[in-house]
Amino acid sequence: MNRLEGQVALITGAARGIGKGIALCLADEGVDIVIADRYHEDEAEALAQQIRDKGRQALVHMTDVSDRAAVAALFATAVERFGQLNIAVANAGISIREPILEAQWESVERTLGVTQFGVYHTCQFAAQQMAQQPLTGRSRGKIIIIGSILQELPVQTSTAYNMAKAAVNHLGRTMAAELARLHINVNVVNPGWIDTPGERQHASEETLQAAGAHIPWGRLGQPDDIGKTVAFLASDDADYITGAALRVDGGYMVGLSLPD
Ligand code: NDP
Repeated sequence: MNRLEGQVALITGAARGIGKGIALCLADEGVDIVIADRYHEDEAEALAQQIRDKGRQALVHMTDVSDRAAVAALFATAVERFGQLNIAVANAGISIREPILEAQWESVERTLGVTQFGVYHTCQFAAQQMAQQPLTGRSRGKIIIIGSILQELPVQTSTAYNMAKAAVNHLGRTMAAELARLHINVNVVNPGWIDTPGERQHASEETLQAAGAHIPWGRLGQPDDIGKTVAFLASDDADYITGAALRVDGGYMVGLSLPD
């Protein structure tokens, strides 16, 4: 499908994992992509080539989203190159897992710096750019935040991350309320357990296989499960959706079964 032909998307944390899945799905819909990531330049360039092979344009801009000035420079570069920004996906996030009794404040600050404040920077600069653009179609722009089911599920040793994910869910709702009059859609996607390089840092292949079997859908999610959701939310089909949080988790949150 080419539902988004000619549009431009900026995606943070796009070199790998869910962000990469989103980039490929949006490119399949006709979107030119700005890939932002902090360290994985080779993977980012390889993804850019994959996008160009699909006939779309791609720009790599290495950015640490916890650095507000760097995020400002990212948006300036993207707009200078493409002249507009139609879709922004605040995807970059990290989780430093430590039990609350032992958590180091530096770890908490690092997690919040990326997963909460990095999302804030991305969303604010996206909104400021979109607000200046003319309303040509139904929407002036689409902002999509990648949250997590941990925004409501209190998985242990993950306090800073869970706190940040709850915060970005409310950021999305609040921005949606403020920006509706400008026809800027702001929505949150809350993934369940998705098979990505990030997750593989925390879990072995055996653990991931076993976890997949326990998810009601019978498998872990894949990055393109989230990518297709983002493509839908970015499309005119989702024109009237704003301030929403969409769980994409293969039934994880409704699948709890208690003994008979
Ligand atoms: P990955 O670690 O696989 O990929 C994330 C990418 O973002 C990496 O390239 C990472 O680089 C990059 N990144 C990290 N910090 C920054 C930063 N400060 N600035 C720019 N780029 C950065 O993660 P996932 O794909 O699994 O996760 C993507 C998003 O989805 C996150 O927000 C995560 O919380 C969320 N999510 C993931 C779930 C899952 O099960 N996978 C479930 C629910 C939500 P580096 O390797 O250097 O950190």
